[in-house]
Amino acid sequence: MTLSTLWVVAEPANGALTTTSTELLSHARDLATNVSAITWGPDAASLAGEAGEFGATTLYNVGDLAGALPGAAVASAIAVLIASVGAPDAILLPASYDGRDIAGRLSARLDRPVLTNVTGLYDDGGLVTEHPIFGGTQTVSARFTGEGPGLVVVRAKSFVVEATEGLAASVVDAPAGDVGPSGAATIATSHVEERTGPKLEEAAVVVSGGRGLGEADKYALIEEAAKLLGGAAGASRAIVDAGWVPYSHQVGQTGKTVKPTVYIACGISGATQHMVGMKGSKNIVAINKDADAPIFQIADFGIVGDVHKVLPALIEALKSRG
Ligand SMILES: Cc1cc2nc3c(=O)[nH]c(=O)nc-3n(C[C@H](O)[C@H](O)[C@H](O)COP(=O)(O)OP(=O)(O)OC[C@H]3O[C@@H](n4cnc5c(N)ncnc54)[C@H](O)[C@@H]3O)c2cc1C
Repeated sequence: MTLSTLWVVAEPANGALTTTSTELLSHARDLATNVSAITWGPDAASLAGEAGEFGATTLYNVGDLAGALPGAAVASAIAVLIASVGAPDAILLPASYDGRDIAGRLSARLDRPVLTNVTGLYDDGGLVTEHPIFGGTQTVSARFTGEGPGLVVVRAKSFVVEATEGLAASVVDAPAGDVGPSGAATIATSHVEERTGPKLEEAAVVVSGGRGLGEADKYALIEEAAKLLGGAAGASRAIVDAGWVPYSHQVGQTGKTVKPTVYIACGISGATQHMVGMKGSKNIVAINKDADAPIFQIADFGIVGDVHKVLPALIEALKSRG
């Protein structure tokens, strides 16, 4: 192990760390001897147990931001921390809105580059990052040069979450200091998207619909099948762009990455940009009327047929199973 210290920007949400943050902590633990988490919010100190469980020995607490967006404050706190305790080998950030905001600001403050859209990280005499390109058909590797910490923005579901028997991390205050006008933006209102069932990124079963559904109303079949299977409903970009479903349902390169136990693609052709977001699923089922559709190349189980016949039959079978 050539890496000594990694810091993970561990995003809080509803009194816990986000799943991507725990994925990053779990993987950081395999790469470096010392892993610290950086978090914020009114309940930040209470996250020490969870941070420790996933491998952090120290939790740097930026504190309650009083409703401000975290970007400016957290980037400032990290820069202040580096000036006082020294820089880690790298700082890992989730590819979320706030994670990206913090990374950009930190890059400007530290005059260090950011490597984004990272899906793999390993130690080869230094940190090496992996990035999918050309719609996920190729992977390029990169490494940082020069002095200072590498800033790495990692996509969700790149690593497996693994808890340890670790003790709670020790909490160290890491105040942001004065961030000037850049810290003045506050969150006026926020809306929690209404959802029944599991989150798309965390569901064990995902049923996704594509243009083969024919019309927006037919997406109800996807939602019903997903509900009966205790899963979440996803979509291809084609039907998001067509306005049939919100963007939050989109799976793929410019949408969400999912790795469920079962992924059922209904009327989806299997463009590389879609497949990059779901090819890590354990079992892939495809329903498509075209036997030559590319989705069948990665499907474990394929049904050549009309979604309007196959999906209602599946729904009936699930209902009769009770
Ligand atoms: C930069 C970039 C980023 C992109 N990002 C994404 C992304 O994140 N996610 C994404 O999904 N796409 C993304 N795309 C778009 C992608 O290239 C495809 O256009 C899109 O995935 C196609 O969606 P689709 O499979 O639903 O539609 P189509 O490609 O039109 O496929 C529809 C399929 O339905 C089948 N079908 C038709 N009728 C029936 C029926 N009655 N029963 C069964 N099957 C039927 C057809 O045989 C066909 O295979 C991106 C593109 C670009 C350029």
